[in-house]
Amino acid sequence: MSWELDIKGLIQPFGALKFTVKQPHTLNYPIEKRQEVIGYRGFHLNSLSLCVGCGNCQDICMNEAIDMVEAVGVINSKNASGLVPRIDYGRCCWCGLCTDVCGPDSLRLESNCIYASADANSFLYMPKDC
Ligand code: SF4
Ligand code: SF4
Repeated sequence: MSWELDIKGLIQPFGALKFTVKQPHTLNYPIEKRQEVIGYRGFHLNSLSLCVGCGNCQDICMNEAIDMVEAVGVINSKNASGLVPRIDYGRCCWCGLCTDVCGPDSLRLESNCIYASADANSFLYMPKDC
């Protein structure tokens, strides 16, 4: 039985050392924040001065992620129902259909999408007024 020294196999693992001097591709979160991407589908925003409480957003949502709840704060005088959408982020798939059917253009998606909480109820989210 004869042995052959596999020089290439011995040297190859040391090739990984070059990564010790390269810039990382990851971010040092939360110290470093990801750059916002224009057009990214993040959290919902709802301009209460424009929302008319029609419920179109709720009707179109195939995931039943929207329920209409009583508005808090100053709302549009044309909002006859007095209701505004609340989003369940346990169900939402960020398809954006609700924003597409919003006639007065009050519902939008912002680019921010980072959120963490141990409280499951906080994922029932009232869109920020904008
Ligand atoms: S957010 Fe738009 S679609 Fe939804 S209730 Fe308000 S006006 Fe209607
Ligand atoms: S983005 Fe899509 S899934 Fe999410 S609430 Fe709107 S319609 Fe429903």
